[in-house]
Parts: sequence; C-alpha cells; structure tokens
Amino acid sequence: MKFPKEMKTYCPYCKHHTVHSVSLYKRGKERATSWGARRQAGRKRGYGGQKFPELVRTAKTTKKATLKLHCKDCNKELMRYGIRLRKAEIEP
Ligand SMILES: [Zn+2]
Repeated sequence: MKFPKEMKTYCPYCKHHTVHSVSLYKRGKERATSWGARRQAGRKRGYGGQKFPELVRTAKTTKKATLKLHCKDCNKELMRYGIRLRKAEIEP
C-alpha cells in the first residue's frame, strides 16, 4: 500500500487538524547490554543451552506497518496504529 508524503489529520497537541509529514516507523537497534539480552546470554551459558523453542518460521505472511506522523505546526510526533500489509511505501 502506498501512503502520501503529507496528510492532514488530527493532532492531539494542537487539538485540530494540521498537515503532517508521513514516514514509516522502523524498529531501533537492539542493545547487546540490555537486561533482556544479558539474561538470555546467561541462560545460554554452559550445559543446557536454549530455554524455550526458537521460532523457526512465523505463521504470519505480513508485517505491521506503523506510520510516524510529524506535525508541522507543533513539531510533535505521533504514531498511527499499525496495520498488516505485505508492502508499505511512501509515495515519492
Ligand atoms: Zn500539532
């Protein structure tokens, strides 16, 4: 699905419809020193290995695309709830 580069939608900070620039949300890089990563590293150490089955292949054939909207009036960012799509792109 194609999304417009700009769209007019409700801004909860301005409390009325304003022009927003649209971009796709991308997940941030995972830290190797986060508590979850360190706990998993500790579990995998020594004899015994993996504590729960590794996901071999997912049941889903699509990924959720979350839109990141940037209000041009107040410079605040808001996210639009993710919808399942095969392919999401911003119209050039
Ligand atoms: Zn705003």
